[in-house]
Amino acid sequence: MAAVGEIPVTREELEHLLQDADVPVLLMVLVHLTGERTWLEAPYLPERDISFFADESGGLSEDIQQQIRSAAADAVLAFHEHRLTRLPEPSDEQYAEMMNVCVGEAVPPEYTTMLLEEMGMRDRDPQWNTKPDEQALNDFEVLIVGAGMSGICAAAKLEASGISYSVVEKNPELGGTWYENTYPEVGCDVPNHFYSYSFRPNPGWSGYFSKGEEIESYLETCATEFGVVEQIRFNTEVIQATYEEESASWHVELRLADGSTEITTANVVVSAVGQLNRPKCPTIEGLGTFEGPTFHTAQWRHDVDLAGKRVAVIGTGASAMQLTRTTADVAERLLIFQRSAQWAIPSRDYHRTVSPQKRWLLEFVPFYASWYRFTLAWRFGDHLHPTIKRDPEWPHPERAVSRRNDRHREFLTDFIVSELGDRTDLLPKVLPDYPPYGKRILVDNHWFRTVGRDDVDLITDEIERITPTSVVTEDGKEHAVDAIILATGFEATRLLWPMDVVGREGKRLHELWGDDDSRAYLGLTIPGFPNLFCLYGPNTNLGHGGSIVFIAECQVRYLLGCLMHMLEQGLASIECKNEVYEAYIERMDAEHAQMIWTHPGMDTWYRNKNGRVVSVMPWRLVDYWEMTRAPNLGEYLTMETS
Ligand code: NAP
Repeated sequence: MAAVGEIPVTREELEHLLQDADVPVLLMVLVHLTGERTWLEAPYLPERDISFFADESGGLSEDIQQQIRSAAADAVLAFHEHRLTRLPEPSDEQYAEMMNVCVGEAVPPEYTTMLLEEMGMRDRDPQWNTKPDEQALNDFEVLIVGAGMSGICAAAKLEASGISYSVVEKNPELGGTWYENTYPEVGCDVPNHFYSYSFRPNPGWSGYFSKGEEIESYLETCATEFGVVEQIRFNTEVIQATYEEESASWHVELRLADGSTEITTANVVVSAVGQLNRPKCPTIEGLGTFEGPTFHTAQWRHDVDLAGKRVAVIGTGASAMQLTRTTADVAERLLIFQRSAQWAIPSRDYHRTVSPQKRWLLEFVPFYASWYRFTLAWRFGDHLHPTIKRDPEWPHPERAVSRRNDRHREFLTDFIVSELGDRTDLLPKVLPDYPPYGKRILVDNHWFRTVGRDDVDLITDEIERITPTSVVTEDGKEHAVDAIILATGFEATRLLWPMDVVGREGKRLHELWGDDDSRAYLGLTIPGFPNLFCLYGPNTNLGHGGSIVFIAECQVRYLLGCLMHMLEQGLASIECKNEVYEAYIERMDAEHAQMIWTHPGMDTWYRNKNGRVVSVMPWRLVDYWEMTRAPNLGEYLTMETS
């Protein structure tokens, strides 16, 4: 929230700036600043708007909007001129009512606290009961593996709690996925004012969906501000981690930049290695014989000039969605090899920049950024969850999983048709033959317009082989190309790979999980592997909405809760009980049996080769938030420090 102080504009300028405000958000600012109930009643009630990008007018008449803006200008000025001395702090019930009014629909009370945390109105951090002395804190060491979004979040919270920690990062810089992926138009398809730490909002995002470089720079700023950069050892990769029962500690083998190795020890290891950073390259006959440049999207070759070249893109997932538009502009010809068509949602804000006026509002109008974040967290949260549940009674499983899902199919199909314009001949190729949301939903980056260009070919025949100069499809056609881009995704089902993690009694994580069947209680802890926590671990990806930053914050809170218990109670180790783990997996798999990803015929990287869903969670965000709110040590085997 903006601090009370000089407001850098006049009343007239403020009124001008407020013309750009999102009116339902501004209405909440007004209620928040004045405590006046009149603003929560007709004629000021915004209309319900079920679209992802709601109309900023709230469906209110121009006259009512102006009344809200004018009253808000008074309140904001009074706030900055110290005339509002005691701001009324809404109760949870009042907050719940404000939330309902803001989005024009009932926000169930179970969401209130979760959303208040998202808004930065409630602290998400667990607190010490009795903080241990310096010595005890310093004698306890946590090793975080990875300095991406989750690792930095964990480091920031450990730093604030006083628990000593260090971070190892295999790359020369922090940022994880946002450091590694540099393909054209790389960016986030989750709105940035929500895809950012709740405890470190950024009013300055240049776009509603910012690009990778800006997100990486945000993470760098966070890491610097939270004082964690000094604790990161770059160019340092974990090769093996072995738990030693006698000392209840992990012995971790590191590979340093010069190739040498080193052993370090830690009481607790936190894996923050992500799920999507080991490129998956297809095994296509002859791929290695291709004479031109061939590279994966996550290893973009900036030294290769694609201008004037015939460029093949293999794969049509989220990365391809982002890079093809501008690559088509550069290349002489773009050949897209598609195995599956993709559903994509239209997004009004995807290409829009945030106006300077809006950025000003986000920075200086008290509570504006919080209430704006609330609207995003609500709209991009659990809304879609019922749409991806299978209805066993639904009579058309070949096209949708429920009536509701079918309505989404109609809407998204209409969108595709409207985007194709006169290229309706492409419809059979681009219309997916599986229900919407069955694979990760994409945000449209002019995909359908791009594939309709005269200089773009969308090839749906299966690739048979690759020759030194071409891609040959099974219809016998030879497509001459100069460069091949592999947009074929990541080794998402091989979690923590290629690290070798050895738990109690020499048990290896990859023996327990097999090649692709990772499991963990809450996605975080595993029997036989005491004092090991996985952030963004098995089944913690999101397939229906939300932001992975939210999941990271839930997990870090849980982690911190465990560490505080350990330190306060003098526990050398904690280990998830087997029965707790088994019961959780059983419950989760049963839940997954009702979800779209296990729908007959559905093929997605969320599932392993046996069809078990290992990547995404079946839960609503609010369920996972509740499950990870505070650890129950009764679910763990504990051993006291001797
Ligand atoms: P992806 O979604 O896994 O897509 C891979 C694509 O390659 C799919 O179209 C797949 O087809 C195709 N493919 C794989 N192997 C193939 C083969 N042997 N022959 C032909 N086609 C093949 O990969 P991605 O686009 O890199 O994205 C991975 C994940 O990263 C995303 O789902 C998302 O979670 C994350 N991501 C996020 C953003 C963001 O904006 N937040 C951006 C990029 C990536 P099938 O569908 O038939 O398997």
